[in-house]
Amino acid sequence: MLADKAMIAENLEQVQSRINSVNHDQKVQLIAVSKTRSADDIQGAVDAGQLHFGENYLQEALEKINTLQGQNLLWHFIGPIQSNKTSKIAEHFDWVHSVDRVKVARRLSDQRSDSTNELNILLQVNIDQESTKSGFLLEEIALVVPQIENLPNISLRGFMCIPSQANPSQSFAKMANLLAKYPKMDTLSMGMSQDLELAVQNGATFVRIGTDIFGKRA
Ligand SMILES: *Cc1c(COP(=O)(O)O)cnc(C)c1O
Repeated sequence: MLADKAMIAENLEQVQSRINSVNHDQKVQLIAVSKTRSADDIQGAVDAGQLHFGENYLQEALEKINTLQGQNLLWHFIGPIQSNKTSKIAEHFDWVHSVDRVKVARRLSDQRSDSTNELNILLQVNIDQESTKSGFLLEEIALVVPQIENLPNISLRGFMCIPSQANPSQSFAKMANLLAKYPKMDTLSMGMSQDLELAVQNGATFVRIGTDIFGKRA
């Protein structure tokens, strides 16, 4: 289904006003999650001023990144990462939110070209210890950060989570406490269509919104 460009522009405005409706001191940037959406739909969002896009599936993303090049868009990889896909991710993305193994961080570091700027990475945290979700456990983070923070060609900027819907506010607050332990980091990626206000209240600096911008996915 093709989403209408006027609708996308209106939805972007609405999501922005939801962000603004919540008290917060930090800068919050909106990532339009464009997985399964066409390059046309993404162009509709770009025409409305949107610059950050999030993708989960590499092959699909690469095609759209290529089609939409030359517009200074910022691409965020937010999906599960297979080791054999890291080289294309390192080459074509600006941010990776879903780093869940030290090995993946090492490969991204090795494969990011010296001549481009550093690849920004976030560690995915399985904040509610759900067996269905990937990510480091909270208590692993202190061991993992020293193994990653000094790798060349990448910059460890912070943390990402997908909380359980049981008590997202509490999960987001734990993430904020985690970030506070690392003064050199500045990024918390959390908040989706259904819980973005709670995430912003708790210190999110990136919110990742798909459905409320482009409509329901097929
Ligand atoms: C799909 C997805 C989103 C966006 O979800 P919506 O409910 O459509 O807003 C955000 N983050 C991740 C990691 C996703 O996979």
